[in-house]
Amino acid sequence: MRLGALEAGGTKMVCAVGDETGKIFDQISIPTRTPEETVPEMLAYFKKAEIEALGIGCFGPIDPDKSSATYGHITSTPKLAWRNYNIVGAFEEALGCPVGFDTDVNGSALGEVTFGQAKGKKSVIYITIGTGVGAGIFAEGNLIHGMLHPEAGHVLIQKRSDDTYQGKCPYHKSCLEGLAAGPAIEERWGKKAIELKDREEVWDLESYYIAQALVGYILTVSPEMIILGGGVMHQEQLFPKIRGYVKELLNGYIQTEELEHIENYIVPASLQDNQGIMGCLELGRRALRGE
Ligand code: ADP
Ligand code: ZN
Repeated sequence: MRLGALEAGGTKMVCAVGDETGKIFDQISIPTRTPEETVPEMLAYFKKAEIEALGIGCFGPIDPDKSSATYGHITSTPKLAWRNYNIVGAFEEALGCPVGFDTDVNGSALGEVTFGQAKGKKSVIYITIGTGVGAGIFAEGNLIHGMLHPEAGHVLIQKRSDDTYQGKCPYHKSCLEGLAAGPAIEERWGKKAIELKDREEVWDLESYYIAQALVGYILTVSPEMIILGGGVMHQEQLFPKIRGYVKELLNGYIQTEELEHIENYIVPASLQDNQGIMGCLELGRRALRGE
């Protein structure tokens, strides 16, 4: 099966060709400009690749509801050139093949569940902490959409009393994204996150905020595994700190095997930053099979 995968991001579009086993044959990255500039380049790539189906994991918000008139559109994004853009329609029409569509983070969750460490699990949350914060939710065997789709990167967070930074989210100021995404770290501490590697207090506060959100997700969705990816999570010292705060905040209320072995429960992504693009291959496979 020759499948196309498109991980559509605000800064770059990663296009790949691979198969149903998650094997990637070829991959390119194109800077995200306007649809008029960027889409023809991507179409040329996929046309040449002679794919049978395409899976798109897309920055959002998007409309993933097949019964909606605006299905397949990017909706209220702050990236104005892409607002109300029918990305699924553009690819379906030009390629003439089935197109699967979901959020970028649901795509990453699907990649981990299909090909990665979460294989066989029924409920898994994938969180990316990078330029923004997003969460994909796979629950009881399905990617969750609901009214729109989870926007769990914007859950509200209780600020710690020693943190005077007001938060960067234009909608909520001090939601998780506003307090803990890469740009918030940079603005709060006056340096890029990567340059703050040795500043203990940076990662302590960061893990406290991430843990608050994880506790909310644990209590709401009861996932069997929580996977953390994205640029900021390359700071591996975050993991033990996050696990510690999660235990502290749960305060013994939930007792499960998973929490007992929390080092196997709250874990880094397992597919060398290919979880997103591999998930898109699976979205393509599912579209081909009409799933
Ligand atoms: P995006 O979210 O745009 O897809 P990334 O997941 O790479 O891309 O996230 C970029 C953000 O992550 C930036 O704010 C950057 O400062 C931060 N970042 C990237 N690499 C690291 C790192 N090794 N350590 C800490 N922060 C990082
Ligand atoms: Zn927000």
